[in-house]
Amino acid sequence: MKIKAINGFKDILPEEVPLWQHIEGVARDIFQRFGCHEIRLPILEKTELFARSIGEATDIVEKEMYTFVEMGITMRPEATASLLRAFIEHGLHVRQPVQRLYTIGPMFRHERPQKGRLRQFHQVDAEVIGAVEPEIDAELMAMGQMLLTELGLSASLEVNSLGCPGCRPEFRRRLVAYLQDRQAGLCEDCRRRSETNPLRVLDCKKAGCREVVEEAPSILDALCPECRSHFDQVQSRLDLLGVSYSLNRFMVRGLDYYTRTTFEFVTGDLGAQAAIGAGGRYDGLIEQLGGPKLPGIGFAMGMERLVLLLQAADNRAERPGPSLDLFVAALGSRAGLHGYRLVHGLRQRGLRAAMDYSGRSLKAQMKQAARQAARHTLILGDDELERQTAILRNMQTQEQLPFPLQADVGQECLQLIDIIQTT
Ligand code: ATP
Ligand code: MG
Repeated sequence: MKIKAINGFKDILPEEVPLWQHIEGVARDIFQRFGCHEIRLPILEKTELFARSIGEATDIVEKEMYTFVEMGITMRPEATASLLRAFIEHGLHVRQPVQRLYTIGPMFRHERPQKGRLRQFHQVDAEVIGAVEPEIDAELMAMGQMLLTELGLSASLEVNSLGCPGCRPEFRRRLVAYLQDRQAGLCEDCRRRSETNPLRVLDCKKAGCREVVEEAPSILDALCPECRSHFDQVQSRLDLLGVSYSLNRFMVRGLDYYTRTTFEFVTGDLGAQAAIGAGGRYDGLIEQLGGPKLPGIGFAMGMERLVLLLQAADNRAERPGPSLDLFVAALGSRAGLHGYRLVHGLRQRGLRAAMDYSGRSLKAQMKQAARQAARHTLILGDDELERQTAILRNMQTQEQLPFPLQADVGQECLQLIDIIQTT
């Protein structure tokens, strides 16, 4: 019986990898421009870390986590909690009052797999810890927008404020009262949520629920003066940076730790999976996890969704991978051994070189060279060895030149490199 990958877990094949590397490269470049440093984190953490940060009554913690129950550990469903755990554990704030960090890697959630939704998926994640200024919020959103723009994608930015522990409880009470009279219109999940996590009802995508919340009180009308002024300044800084956005008072996000600014990058090009990335402020969370009283804000983008969008935008993924500099087509056993040393010498000197060991015909080897997108092929038979002259074929122009063989393989490599790099 053939063993296949688990449902929702996907291989990223060699022809897709260049696109992944491209996304990672652009992300790293942009994050570094904004002063972010990379941090690499473990995939397993104590279950309690996620229960305490993401929240017991969230979808993620209630039903999506891969947990080894007896060991009390869980495969991370997102990066922020792990990053803050590491930040606290190593006292990173002592080194620098404001830390800008990013991380890239796999996350795990047990949800129904579909296009753009996997059980192992990947995120690029950036966080700024230790700063409460609205400049930071706007800068981080601008950074996310820059990443999408430089990848050649367009998405719209939606922004909301969730207030703070000062003003949110009052809003929550008003929302609960509003929902209490309208239970009949809600889906089953939201009837439960209207007690455990009422703000999440605002975010439900079901038509019935959307209709119910259309007239619900708006959190933006319920902000305390401090949150109001912070949010106004975030918007004015976005304007200053020329980042366009729209307000979405129904956006709540599926994690409990958010305060004040929350945002999402959304697209119409991914069907049901409209969110490319999302994030927000979590000013009380670090303290709640046993760390210093410091604010923070961050966002994560889903890499599978970026890949899908880029594949749709152009056929990048189908372009051949990096080509070979030289394929050595050796015929005969002496030529084979000569070629073997030559290929190794070229690799030592930084070239991409390859050959075939199975003794195939010249025609078959030329086909193989073309399939591997070799720029040049060196044709080398025992006869050529005898005459001390091989044939160097430029695979693009089809031009063939005699190539004098040398007694010393090192010399031969240098000469080959010289010719290859000037043609
Ligand atoms: P969604 O509403 O699509 O479930 P989410 O709110 O659960 O997203 P976040 O936890 O904010 O997502 O994660 C940020 C980003 O990570 C998402 O915008 C999405 O691009 C990506 N993402 C989240 N869950 C998955 C998944 N199961 N498969 C692929 N990408 C995902
Ligand atoms: Mg989700």
